[in-house]
Amino acid sequence: MIFPSTIAGSLPKPSWLAEPDKLWPQWRLQGADLAAGKLDATLLAIKLQEDAGIDIVGDGEQSRQHFVHGFLEFVDGIDFSKKVEMGIRGDRYKAMVPVVRGELKLKGRVHQLEARHARAHTKRKLKITLPGPMTISDTVADAHYGDKIKMAFAIADLLNKEARALEADGVDVIQFDEPAFNVFMSEVAGWGIEALARAIDGLKCTTAVHICYGYGIKANIDWKNSLGGEWKQYEEIFPALAKSCIGQVSVECINSRVPLKLLSLLTGKDILVGVIDVANDAIETPEQIAQVIGEVMKFVPKEHIVASTNCGMAPMHRNIAAAKLTALGTGAALARKKFA
Ligand code: ZN
Repeated sequence: MIFPSTIAGSLPKPSWLAEPDKLWPQWRLQGADLAAGKLDATLLAIKLQEDAGIDIVGDGEQSRQHFVHGFLEFVDGIDFSKKVEMGIRGDRYKAMVPVVRGELKLKGRVHQLEARHARAHTKRKLKITLPGPMTISDTVADAHYGDKIKMAFAIADLLNKEARALEADGVDVIQFDEPAFNVFMSEVAGWGIEALARAIDGLKCTTAVHICYGYGIKANIDWKNSLGGEWKQYEEIFPALAKSCIGQVSVECINSRVPLKLLSLLTGKDILVGVIDVANDAIETPEQIAQVIGEVMKFVPKEHIVASTNCGMAPMHRNIAAAKLTALGTGAALARKKFA
């Protein structure tokens, strides 16, 4: 089937589980109730995607407070008790980040519960996302390794361990989120992709990397407005990604100023084409979505096109996200009819 649909990763959480409309929501449940609530919300997220006609479904990241810290909570050697303020993503914005104080080790499984729960309740292909090694190393303060690259490879080893276990849980697609890939362009080709290769080493399932210009939060919107008419940042990293062993690359396309012709630099890769804008509340029409896919077909063979969202939808209003999911499923179906 051409143009299968999927989501970049996160979906809004129900308001009984966490504060709505926030990127860093506080949980509204505790202890055993929270653990059960996360799995209930995972089921809802899957049902919502199935009903919207999404082909490769995810857990909607319902079990994590935030896409990076959801992983770090399960890592020993990180001190969450005294976070420090640090400029991240090339100082685009300040964040309170935890401190690495010793050798990094996994405490145990990270996403086993939600992955197995999701696997048990859907027959569709299942995708689980993990933060990428470069992005994680840009979201912690190092007081142990003294070398960002060394730390990133230590992180990649931990990610690989969890990724292999997720594959054994029956996960079909493992995606690494690397928003840092469009910040440190020269480092991506230098070591970022190598660290990513370490994270996917030995996997037989489909692997993906999501690179992006960030959520629709103010700091990102301001930054995007400063980038000019054409975003050519990817010109530097796409040729290196094309040579890498990653299977799929997720790129924002609708309402983005990334020139679509840059996608032709990703020879041989499946492209997760962002056809849903997560930075505004307007619901895309199926025709709009089919049109973006048609434009991308000028540069990417159609059997390599997957319809997706530009980025995670975690901070969006739930009703808007649900309507956008339906648009995604319907738009991909229309494109299938139009371009078969
Ligand atoms: Zn993103």
